[in-house]
Amino acid sequence: MQNAQELKVLLGQPRKAVVLMHYKPDADALGSSLALAAWLKKGNHTVTVISPSDYPSFLNWMPGNSDVVIFQPGRSDGPARAIAEADLVFCLDFSSLSRINELGEMVRRSSAKTVLIDHHLEPERFADFEEWDSSAASTAELVYRLIVELGGEDKIDCCIADCLYAGLMTDTGSFRHNNTTDEVFVTAASLVKKGANPHRVSKLIYDNNTLSRLRLMGYVLSQKLQVIPELKTAYITLSRDELRQYESQTGDTEGLVNYGLSIKDIVLSVLIYERKDGSVKLSFRSIGDFSVNDFARQHFEGGGHKNAAGGQSSLSLDDTLAKFLGILPSYRDLLQHEGYITTLPTNQESKQNKA
Ligand code: 5GP
Ligand code: MN
Repeated sequence: MQNAQELKVLLGQPRKAVVLMHYKPDADALGSSLALAAWLKKGNHTVTVISPSDYPSFLNWMPGNSDVVIFQPGRSDGPARAIAEADLVFCLDFSSLSRINELGEMVRRSSAKTVLIDHHLEPERFADFEEWDSSAASTAELVYRLIVELGGEDKIDCCIADCLYAGLMTDTGSFRHNNTTDEVFVTAASLVKKGANPHRVSKLIYDNNTLSRLRLMGYVLSQKLQVIPELKTAYITLSRDELRQYESQTGDTEGLVNYGLSIKDIVLSVLIYERKDGSVKLSFRSIGDFSVNDFARQHFEGGGHKNAAGGQSSLSLDDTLAKFLGILPSYRDLLQHEGYITTLPTNQESKQNKA
């Protein structure tokens, strides 16, 4: 952060702070937010953590979870008041205010100083302070980096460390994605030294399934996963009725899109599903140079990272699939050219490219 010293001065006395994360937060968004909130509280600040929506129950173990205010439009003016009265608003794991729906306008109207901590591509430049790095694997890493920059590392306890470790672990796909740099391992090691427990965190996040979620996965893998070999693409669609049949809860679809990419030679994997409110959501994953951030931005009002992005569609599920399948052939050359693992740079080459 360029003006870290200025932020440090601001935090030199007790402030009213709000911590916001993106809609349908994942372990990185929630873990980073709860870690930052716990750290701020240790500095005698008053902190309100607000989520724009509910989130998966496998994240409920995170220390501070019970204090998270879930924004429900029209239900209470608590979040609006907290944002209006805040001295500081921290925005975590999203790069554009549109990702927090109505809360975005409240942030725009607020006179609070805003702090963006994020690793998504193409940020909207709305914040007074930015800890932004699209080469960082997770927002958790950036929260850790900021805390160190502000000289507050000694206040990281095992609860804060567990929350940050959860973000780091999940956003690197358990240290498997191509964002798994040496800094990731150094940060992970520092967090473990501070008391994070990798075994416990991974059990809590990954081994917390309901039987119906596993049945849903079985159904998806046996009946719904489609492959277009000539376009190196895999896709899955799930309707509201199908999700209802498997008693799907928030978060149950998370990770399904990764199965497509686990098929040999597949370069692009897509999950298209209907939310409870009928809207259609898309999740994209890719390997190598095919940018799903560009694809989602261009065609599905979305974005994210080069190899992991999301978007939405106002069409029906069937029409969204038809739109996707209609667009895909125009990417034939790019998709066919992508040579899977042989094109991935070695760690050394990645470093040289960055230098
Ligand atoms: P997921 O597919 O797991 O929902 O999201 C993959 C990545 O894309 C995450 O980093 C997420 O924050 C981002 N993302 C998901 N949906 C959207 C969206 O609608 N708009 C933007 N800009 N980013 C998204
Ligand atoms: Mn993230």
